[in-house]
Amino acid sequence: MAEAQVGDDVFGDDPTVNRLQLEVATRCGMEAALFVPSGTMGNQIAVKLHTQPGEELICEERSHVWVNEAGGLGLISGVQTKTLAAPEGVPSVAAFEAAIRDEDVHHPRSALIVLENTHNYAGGRVIPVATMAAIRALALRRGLKVHLDGARLWNAVVATRTPIAQFAAQVDTLTFCFSKGLGCPAGSMLVGTREAMARARRIRKALGGGMRQVGILAAAAEFALERNVERLADDHARAQRLARAFAELPGCRVDPATVETNIVFVERAANDAVAVEKALAAEGVRAIALAADRLRFVTHLDVGDGDIERALAAMAKVTGARMG
Ligand SMILES: *Cc1c(COP(=O)(O)O)cnc(C)c1O
Repeated sequence: MAEAQVGDDVFGDDPTVNRLQLEVATRCGMEAALFVPSGTMGNQIAVKLHTQPGEELICEERSHVWVNEAGGLGLISGVQTKTLAAPEGVPSVAAFEAAIRDEDVHHPRSALIVLENTHNYAGGRVIPVATMAAIRALALRRGLKVHLDGARLWNAVVATRTPIAQFAAQVDTLTFCFSKGLGCPAGSMLVGTREAMARARRIRKALGGGMRQVGILAAAAEFALERNVERLADDHARAQRLARAFAELPGCRVDPATVETNIVFVERAANDAVAVEKALAAEGVRAIALAADRLRFVTHLDVGDGDIERALAAMAKVTGARMG
């Protein structure tokens, strides 16, 4: 990062950013890419690209774009949202089809489907390419666009040994984050057609996301693409180790078969997830209670095998103590 060549990316002349954008577009098999400060901004720009105020987007009911982006859908794009329940993170083609509005003067126009892969609140579940392709076919048939919130798309790529271009081929735009498992301090990518990225550049500016000598962040992203993608498999193996061991602990429900990537959800029938979170923190282990009965554990490049054993020992102590 310290040695990065930089320019002014608002004028499009930061050589490190330009090289990164080209590399990402090439890997995705798409025309163009745009570096953005955060995944949230990337998603919100994509929604703005594909919708008009008063139109409707359709997504799973625990999607980041709907739950965790501070109401940006209404604030920035003036859209309304139709949410669908899907425990594994991806609604069926039939569910999407039923949610698409008929042509009727009373109805909002259904404009956009947003998918999340891997799906955070479904526990890092992967949406297979074939499933995405079926949803894309429906969208094409009914005149909707598809955006992929791929904050953790590289986890899906590594878990399924599928090139990112095969996922990218099923959508109009996608975002992914350098700042999650890939280990960068900041930065995400929006990827799509050249025409869409040209419009996206203006929306990014309007949102205050045009950054000047941002090659320092792009340099970190290049390093991450080169060095931190394949190693996501280690995170997945460590998450499996956690899941299998947690499943043996008293009062903990985990299904290791559903742990496909780097996220492990532990259900606590005793509804004491907040207390467990606090007790773990006192042992130096960070997890998050996402509900009264649910804790989330995430593995990433700063968590090694020794840390996993430490987390397991702490969890055994905490849950054992709670069982008296
Ligand atoms: C983290 C995340 C994002 C983007 O978050 P930022 O913090 O804005 O980069 C988007 N979608 C999902 C599913 C995420 O987990």
